[in-house]
Amino acid sequence: MKFADIYGEFGISKEVRELVEKAEASLKGKFAEIEAAEEYNQLKVLHAMQKNKVTEACLLETTGYGYNDLGRETLENVYADLFGTEDALVRSQIVCGTHALAVAISGNTRPGDMVYSPCGLPYDTLQTVLGLNGAKGSLKEYGVGFSYTELLPDGSFDYERIRKEIPENAALIEIQRSRGYSLRPSFSVESIGELIGFLKKLKPNAKIMVDNCYGEFVETKEPSEVGADMMVGSLIKNPGGGIAPVGGYIVGTEECVENAAARLTAPGIGKEIGPSLGNNRPMFMGLYHGPQVTAAALKGAVLLAKVYEMLGFDTFPKFGEKRSDIVQTVVLKTPERLTEFCRGVQSASPVDACYAPEPNAMPGYDCEVIMAAGCFTSGSSIELSADGPLREPYAAYYQGGLNYAQGKLAVMETVQFLKNGSLI
Ligand SMILES: *Cc1c(COP(=O)(O)O)cnc(C)c1O
Repeated sequence: MKFADIYGEFGISKEVRELVEKAEASLKGKFAEIEAAEEYNQLKVLHAMQKNKVTEACLLETTGYGYNDLGRETLENVYADLFGTEDALVRSQIVCGTHALAVAISGNTRPGDMVYSPCGLPYDTLQTVLGLNGAKGSLKEYGVGFSYTELLPDGSFDYERIRKEIPENAALIEIQRSRGYSLRPSFSVESIGELIGFLKKLKPNAKIMVDNCYGEFVETKEPSEVGADMMVGSLIKNPGGGIAPVGGYIVGTEECVENAAARLTAPGIGKEIGPSLGNNRPMFMGLYHGPQVTAAALKGAVLLAKVYEMLGFDTFPKFGEKRSDIVQTVVLKTPERLTEFCRGVQSASPVDACYAPEPNAMPGYDCEVIMAAGCFTSGSSIELSADGPLREPYAAYYQGGLNYAQGKLAVMETVQFLKNGSLI
């Protein structure tokens, strides 16, 4: 079989393959930028591992209380070094990003405090944690309030309104780096640094936390290196490298991490316990692969943007724009296109490629949602995945892909599915 013929095995026509390869040929400069950041971040990870003396003994496991878990303690030192913080909490007992954020916020606020977002409403699941829709156990039930300031129409920070609207008793300020399920841009680390500088003058005693989900290794600096007191993320996204089976991290000042640890386990026990079970090895290995996998996901995202721009669709960000997260949005404008797009992504997966996703009702949404994912780890969105709510403007949110070849095939599949359905 000739090289090009392998695409025929996936049902890709010559026309679609040539379209995608034409787009690809124009992206050499962009890919070189991504590879430069990858190289730097790979060396940064390797250096943190060597400096903290990761040894074979660190790959072993503990059970029960997990006292003196060499691997867990070393991994936390590696994270702290890598992200330039005093301390770190990196645990498989943290189930996902929302859990990590909930632990970080509840550990670092007390009754009567306010949580404040200078960048609009936070990620959907965080709104529930904060108590915006009446969930049991929310921060609101514990007397912690929440307020926010909208972004300017161009998606930048509204410094004047922030100055006016920041609550007197703001104890924790939350900045979300990634776009989440909105069409606003993700914030560059540089712009987050400027915002932090401004906020520190306004409220020197408030703790500044960055939700770093989807952002790790996209740039060569992280928000923790530009003044954030605390930074939080999920290990089934970028820093787990598609290998960590579960987990989350909270890095930051000693005080912030200690407060979070008291919440994750129990007051007085904090970081001392937490068995790694069999997870030290995949958590080290995942972190090690994180920069490479993030770069692969980014190349897929850029290719997707370029192809859909050639086809006349709106994309966020545009293929050539500077990125600060791995999410690529394509505005497809009809429910039929959104559905076929997601089916195309699903058909490029290593697992469950034989299934076709259907739109369905989801808790927390006011409309049906369609989700494509054929992952080795359930819910992992550093693996190739796409989803979108079935409402205007019928935007697909696309992210992940553990290698570029799969990302490229997925782009072809989405176009092929749209063509087969006579939707483009
Ligand atoms: C993924 C994500 C989260 C957390 O989501 P989980 O599904 O709980 O891991 C929070 N904030 C942002 C911006 C995210 O992308």
